[in-house]
Amino acid sequence: MSTSDMSHSDFASSSGSSSSASSLSALDQLSKALLTKNSQEVLSHCLGLSPLSNVPSLADNTILICFDTESWTSNHSAITEIGVSTFDSRDMRALATPGLHGEHLLQQMYFYHARIQEHAHLLNIKFCVGNPDANRFGQTRFLKKEQARGMLKEMFAWPIDAEKPELGFCPVVVMGHALHGDMDLLRSALGFDADALGTVVSVIDTQVLARECGFTLRKQIGLRDLVGLCGFQYRDAHTASNDAAMTLIAAVQMVLPAALKPDDGGLQHVLDRVETASQMQAWSWGDDLYCLRCGNYGHTKDDHGGRKCRAKVKCMHCAASIKEKRRRAAGTHRTEVCITFVLHGPELQDPYESGEDVATRISRLGIGDRG
Ligand SMILES: [Zn+2]
Ligand SMILES: [Zn+2]
Repeated sequence: MSTSDMSHSDFASSSGSSSSASSLSALDQLSKALLTKNSQEVLSHCLGLSPLSNVPSLADNTILICFDTESWTSNHSAITEIGVSTFDSRDMRALATPGLHGEHLLQQMYFYHARIQEHAHLLNIKFCVGNPDANRFGQTRFLKKEQARGMLKEMFAWPIDAEKPELGFCPVVVMGHALHGDMDLLRSALGFDADALGTVVSVIDTQVLARECGFTLRKQIGLRDLVGLCGFQYRDAHTASNDAAMTLIAAVQMVLPAALKPDDGGLQHVLDRVETASQMQAWSWGDDLYCLRCGNYGHTKDDHGGRKCRAKVKCMHCAASIKEKRRRAAGTHRTEVCITFVLHGPELQDPYESGEDVATRISRLGIGDRG
């Protein structure tokens, strides 16, 4: 542990003679020190509202990552979206004031909406209905799973000072609403394990924070109710970046001093401005323009030179279905993005027909991805 490049520690010099401290990495020491603090205290520190006492000074480099994931309700291992709202506590402490309703704090936050390209066509149409096209916070980009892992790794392993790599990585406070499900999904469906990077020093669940701050007595308050209690609109939910953003905004409202929260109806206006500004925040992982209809880059299904993509597509599964309705839908999507096939299988014309016959029949259709 002592040879770790994260062994740099201001804490070691300020913590006196603790013998156990010297055997822990600086991040581990901070993580241990934060166990004695509640979520409200940790968040207030990150926002620069009130500094934590008796913690290693490494805490001053903390970044907070609030995230939400969406998956396909028919197969939860198919992760479809990741939303991230994040900020650097150093940016917060540099502010002269948090601003009314925390506007200055919220202006320092970054918002990302990643759609997982391999599963982007798996839309939830029955349960947990969300529309990934209705993202409000940050820009939407399509990332392959591997790129999503890269993006998350970059976020969770952020150098304290890019020019001084020997200083190691920023401590990360992870935030989410009913978070354990999302952490599990990143691990199982994406192969990303935040814990393995060793930078996570604390986890804040807004369900716990809401109880600590006296907003509810309920153990599991829903995000919709929490947003309502915080006094802003719950819009286009079940889209990962909107949920992550609303989670972080609610958290900020819960710890903001009452004097900064006048009952003047101004909060929603603040959020509208933050939302609009966030849409200018460019980022670079993956591709911004990917067409779910034809599978090509450079345009989207709804905007190909100002109108919808009209590339000829055909689904071989639907074209071969015994159901007329399904055959009629065959020209609306590609074979590889057929939700009906994922849900119900091929529905062969003749259940006894051999695989070879099917192959012959499909080859006769003479269609590829784009017909
Ligand atoms: Zn297209
Ligand atoms: Zn189909």
